Amino acid sequence: MHFDIFTLFPGMFTGVFTDSILKRAQEAGIMSVALHNIRDYAEGRHRVTDDTPYGGGGGMVMKPEPIFRAVETVLTHEPGWAFAPLHPGDEPPVPAEPPARPPQAPIILLSPQGWPFTQRIAEELAGQARIALICGRYEGVDERVRTGLVTDAISIGDFVLSGGELAAAVIVDAVTRLLPGALGCEMGAFEDSFATGLLEYPQYTRPAVFRGDGIPDILVSGDHARVARWRREQALRRTWRQRPDLLASAALSEADRAFLETLSAEEDAQRMGKLTN
Ligand code: SAM
Repeated sequence: MHFDIFTLFPGMFTGVFTDSILKRAQEAGIMSVALHNIRDYAEGRHRVTDDTPYGGGGGMVMKPEPIFRAVETVLTHEPGWAFAPLHPGDEPPVPAEPPARPPQAPIILLSPQGWPFTQRIAEELAGQARIALICGRYEGVDERVRTGLVTDAISIGDFVLSGGELAAAVIVDAVTRLLPGALGCEMGAFEDSFATGLLEYPQYTRPAVFRGDGIPDILVSGDHARVARWRREQALRRTWRQRPDLLASAALSEADRAFLETLSAEEDAQRMGKLTN
């Protein structure tokens, strides 16, 4: 899996990609990242990448030409060539004519107006060989980038960041941990929240008692079937309480449905108790 990240601030990724799982995944050859500075693809002595918005208003908008040139240049060259770092002062390589876009590489614009990023989208992206991520800044990017270059726009939540870099890092992290071999424990990602359609059950580790608070006895019973059932019920309970919307699309067994009914009955009984007390 290879990520091409197009940004005006490549320095923002230092640290994110040089530690922990993302670092190990790169070292193990599971994933690679190339940072491409959009400014390197801007023309003129000052390599201007933004301009004032047509129609007036505050702020600046990222110009389309450097972004098109950066993405088209990088994605249409052989990986060995394209991933070689540009040296400061190099003229940006300009294709003679607009090259065809390789159909397999999603070109994703990070945008608060994009599709909400979910575990399902992360799983879909984990099946790709190569992904391009374009980070916006300022008031955003010229609309023609969205209509003429990108294949998808993704939002990481209903809030506005100063730029797409943190959002791109979130996507790289969520996708990489799904790649075979990226996590120490292969089962980890399969049982995570959302992977099963539910929130995950509560987790405990040593000490068995912390500040007077113990752990559920069942977890040290050695009865794996009962532990599995307890975890499933806890996941159902947590999802029912915190994210009931997830239950509509989760794969539920008859036993799961019966357990959810007991939760509703429990809540009804509590409500009745409050009314009668
Ligand atoms: N004016 C834009 C709007 O209202 O939609 C917001 C621009 S924002 C300040 C600058 C850049 O940050 C965006 O172009 C996008 O790349 C990134 N960004 C901000 N919030 C984001 C989010 N929730 N998800 C993904 N990217 C985001």
